[in-house]
Amino acid sequence: MIKITYTPEEIKAYYKGVAREKLKIGFVPTMGSLHEGHASLIRRSKQENDLTVCSIFVNPTQFNQPDDFDKYPRNTNDDLSILTDEGCDMVFLPETETMYATANPIKLNFGQLETVLEGKFRPGHFNGVGLIVAKFLNMVDPDKVYFGQKDLQQVAVIRMLTNGLSFPVQVITCPVIREESGLAHSSRNARLSDNGRQKALIFHQSLKKAEKMLYDGESMQTILSHINDDFDTSDASLEYLNLVNANSFDIYQSYDETKNQALCIAGQVEDVRLIDNIILV
Ligand code: AMP
Repeated sequence: MIKITYTPEEIKAYYKGVAREKLKIGFVPTMGSLHEGHASLIRRSKQENDLTVCSIFVNPTQFNQPDDFDKYPRNTNDDLSILTDEGCDMVFLPETETMYATANPIKLNFGQLETVLEGKFRPGHFNGVGLIVAKFLNMVDPDKVYFGQKDLQQVAVIRMLTNGLSFPVQVITCPVIREESGLAHSSRNARLSDNGRQKALIFHQSLKKAEKMLYDGESMQTILSHINDDFDTSDASLEYLNLVNANSFDIYQSYDETKNQALCIAGQVEDVRLIDNIILV
């Protein structure tokens, strides 16, 4: 049976009962509405640890649009049955008051990561992510913590956080899990109509097209003019398509195999904001 906890005190009591100090703990933080992407993180953690802990918490401080927070899908019962099927050992389901018991004036600054791509389009988002992940790491005290490459810039933020503040945890990045169509699994896909899911394929298709053009020696300027034309004749809107260094998020105009580059895209379909990326080889 999966153990359900709601407070840090319950986590401590659970750890005491299982002699935590003798165990390796893997931790998968999520906002719920679990899908194959989340399941892949749980499976990886189970392979590499004695106990796997998952948290489900729709973190208000990382939403820069109140509407996005209100409409974020919430399916705790389905989530619990997925976690049970995957063999997750413990799930942490805190209330907002538990995570934000006191007013929190702490501001984290992730430098350039806050000024480009997601940082630019979602002001304050990474401060909220950094705060909640720091709190979770203190409460759950894992040996390894698992994040998806789906949120590539978030991974860079978390690495800066854990390295910069010396959290004794190993950060593991797991590949993007996609539907057969190429659409990246996302909790927000649940808000799309069947038609919207078809329209959303443009994000992955644009990444693949841009990737091929980069390998053919084209500049991002040329590529963007093609991709903008594609979006103009679609029912989706493009916020950004950038070629970046996957750690620093320095922006490039052309392919360089020595620069650990990734292509990142964001935009909207049916008022749902979606992001995706691919790492170049
Ligand atoms: P979320 O619940 O959206 O905050 O996601 C929780 C974790 O699952 C994050 O580390 C995400 O990057 C990861 N994740 C979400 N979607 C995918 C996916 N399609 N493939 C791999 N990991 C994912």
